[in-house]
Amino acid sequence: MQYQYDLFVIGAGSGGVRASRVAASKGFKVGVAEASALGGTCVNIGCVPKKLFVYGSEYGHVAEQAQGYGWQFAKPSFDWATLRDNKTKEIERLNGIYKNLLENPGVTIHQGYGKLVDAHTVQVGEELITAERILIAVGAQPFVPEFPGSEHALVSDDMFYLDELPESILVVGGGYIAVEFAGICNGLGVSTTLMYRGDKLLRGFDEDVREFATQEFNKAGIDVQLNSDVAAIEMDGKQKRVTLKNGRELVVDQVLYATGRVPKTAELNLEAVGVKTNSKGAIEVDHNYKSTVESVYAIGDVTDKVQLTPVAIKEAMALIGYWFDQKECAMDYDNIPTAVFCQPPIGTVGLTEQEADDRGFDIDVYQTDFRAMKHTLSGAQERSFMKLIVDRGTDRVLGAHMVGDYAGEIIQGLGIAIKAGATKAHFDSTVGVHPTSAEEFVTFS
Ligand code: NDP
Repeated sequence: MQYQYDLFVIGAGSGGVRASRVAASKGFKVGVAEASALGGTCVNIGCVPKKLFVYGSEYGHVAEQAQGYGWQFAKPSFDWATLRDNKTKEIERLNGIYKNLLENPGVTIHQGYGKLVDAHTVQVGEELITAERILIAVGAQPFVPEFPGSEHALVSDDMFYLDELPESILVVGGGYIAVEFAGICNGLGVSTTLMYRGDKLLRGFDEDVREFATQEFNKAGIDVQLNSDVAAIEMDGKQKRVTLKNGRELVVDQVLYATGRVPKTAELNLEAVGVKTNSKGAIEVDHNYKSTVESVYAIGDVTDKVQLTPVAIKEAMALIGYWFDQKECAMDYDNIPTAVFCQPPIGTVGLTEQEADDRGFDIDVYQTDFRAMKHTLSGAQERSFMKLIVDRGTDRVLGAHMVGDYAGEIIQGLGIAIKAGATKAHFDSTVGVHPTSAEEFVTFS
């Protein structure tokens, strides 16, 4: 049977673009469908614009802290429209780069929403397109629980294009997106409340990191409210009146819900074609990212693995190895380094102390918290925290965790060490880079 394409990809986000362009450069005839802007969530309404906003939100504090170093400025003022629109220009530039990345190796872009018709056919608008293999890489979308007035809540997508910056905001959730946006808003001068239903933010992170980070958020000026949840939101003029489950009320300009992301599978016609999804709507795949239909594959946030851009990209590359070199996919989901770009940021790789205990390791724990040198003159009360988990039996470092400036940058290097099986003795025999915060990781005793 003759198909139009060797590979048709639905979704030109991080995973889809990587799979499309590498497959095309290796000789596949490739088409890709994208209903929105090229680059997907990460480029348009995720990692990239978020990080630009994080940078933007830091300058106010920097201006204040510079006084300890002798700088005097007029009182800084902030213009939201400048940050928002400069960010949008940069994203449009990246959209152009993604277009070239696809078109240069010969990928055909079909602008529109792709959905399955059968195991080898995708419909994009009115067009029916056939392919030997179909890859679904449509990602995920924000989840907002249903409650009275939930339609008045914003989600992270909305935050990138707000007409005006609110004076006050309630951020609901305790994960990556909630703490990152609470930090951005607080840094931009918005009166920020961060509300989480549980007793500690950032479930899944090391318990000490969770506690330390929460203290730092409070110190930075975020009003962190734990064990609290929203019952209802009503409009009150232009503002939002929020009733909590404990009966308390608060009135804010905006409410942001950051309560997780769910796979975007509802409109793909998966069931009719026999592609199975789990209870969360995620596509079920085997270790080669093959769905329950032989010719249909899926990678990234649309599956139920790890919702991180670099993971989707690695999955795409694993799939390329499977298709072109007949290698079974060997994506390793252990020791994935990750950072939360809150303020101060968090970096983490490997096992938490609790995970190491649960897995029966006999461990030594090394930890420290300190005021980074920069803040001795800046006057900021911010502190940093670092922790190493070491297996006593083998001396192997099982996990490294940090809260503090540059945590994301530092943890990337430690990720390599831990992946390579470094021991505490390796850390100890490494000469520190002085004076840095990072050197604390090689001077623990
Ligand atoms: P997360 O899964 O990280 O956090 C969701 C939060 O919402 C949790 O605190 C959860 O609470 C809470 N929650 C869930 N349902 C409800 C509910 N019905 N009512 C109240 N609270 C609720 O999701 P995010 O949306 O923050 O991020 C999605 C994913 O995106 C992350 O898992 C991450 O992998 C990725 N991401 C990565 C970033 C990075 O690498 N820096 C940045 C942003 C996102 P509980 O813990 O009690 O379940």
